[in-house]
Amino acid sequence: MENAKKLLMRFQTPRWISQIFFFFLLNAVIFGVLPSPIVLPILHSSGTPQRTIGDALAVMQEQLYQGIFPWLPLVAFLLVAIFLGRATCSWVCPYGFVQDILSYFRRRHTEVAPRTHGQMIYIKYVILAIVVLICAVMGILLISGIGLGYRSAFGEFGEAPFNFLSPADTLFAILPNMALNFRYALVEQSVNSILGGISSLSLLFWVRLVILAVVIGLAVYVPRSWCRYFCPHGALLALLNRFSFLGLKREAVSCTRATCRECVKVCPMKVPILDLPWEKFADSECIYCLKCVDTCSTRAIRPTFP
Ligand code: SF4
Ligand code: SF4
Repeated sequence: MENAKKLLMRFQTPRWISQIFFFFLLNAVIFGVLPSPIVLPILHSSGTPQRTIGDALAVMQEQLYQGIFPWLPLVAFLLVAIFLGRATCSWVCPYGFVQDILSYFRRRHTEVAPRTHGQMIYIKYVILAIVVLICAVMGILLISGIGLGYRSAFGEFGEAPFNFLSPADTLFAILPNMALNFRYALVEQSVNSILGGISSLSLLFWVRLVILAVVIGLAVYVPRSWCRYFCPHGALLALLNRFSFLGLKREAVSCTRATCRECVKVCPMKVPILDLPWEKFADSECIYCLKCVDTCSTRAIRPTFP
């Protein structure tokens, strides 16, 4: 038991440290660090004022909307995917970190039936395709100069359709900004302005709040449910993940596959590890949390690079 606990800490402690470190680094403008032009494929918020590193998908949407080919975010996605696969999802992404914390609220998680899981993983690709399509059409309308009325009718939604409803924007930007405004109102002891502020909240705000509540609730019952089924960043990285230098390898002589399956049980992304090749595998859903590596008592699984 003690040994199992020790093993479990092998990669998980550095991973937690990395997630905490990046959580603060990404918001380090608050400590006086200057914002940088770096973008990463992580789900952050386009509206967080205290961010040092940008969200690649948010920049991609803005550039497409302006009729600019999104070189910078595409290069960021490609470089990260080729060298690290989806590892940024479990070592860097602040929204992934939040989900990992939420999953600790329940000891027993809900198992999604394999068939349902197999179908639901495609939702994130559909979200990605819709987002890119809307922004690209907006950009084409701008460049061609036709249909500009339609373009303006889409308003903020056309500019960044994903961020418009993203739970990360609600969690990391809208709610903190509201809390700040609420604090100022409290300091000024202006009860009327507080009540006025609450009553003037738009329908859009409540829609965003419901989306966030559903996503958070799901993450408590189903670990990494947002990453598995809905995240468009995860979708783009998943498309590229199998070309990654980083991968996992399973030793045939050490793996007690017939009696064990511990690695499969512990995997938050439901990767069918035991059905994958013995030699290097880089499944599109794997986020390289390395829980399977830590939990394997015979040390049959290990990361491999390249
Ligand atoms: S899949 Fe999860 S961890 Fe990866 S970018 Fe999306 S929210 Fe973050
Ligand atoms: S296969 Fe292993 S490293 Fe990949 S997500 Fe599952 S537990 Fe994490």
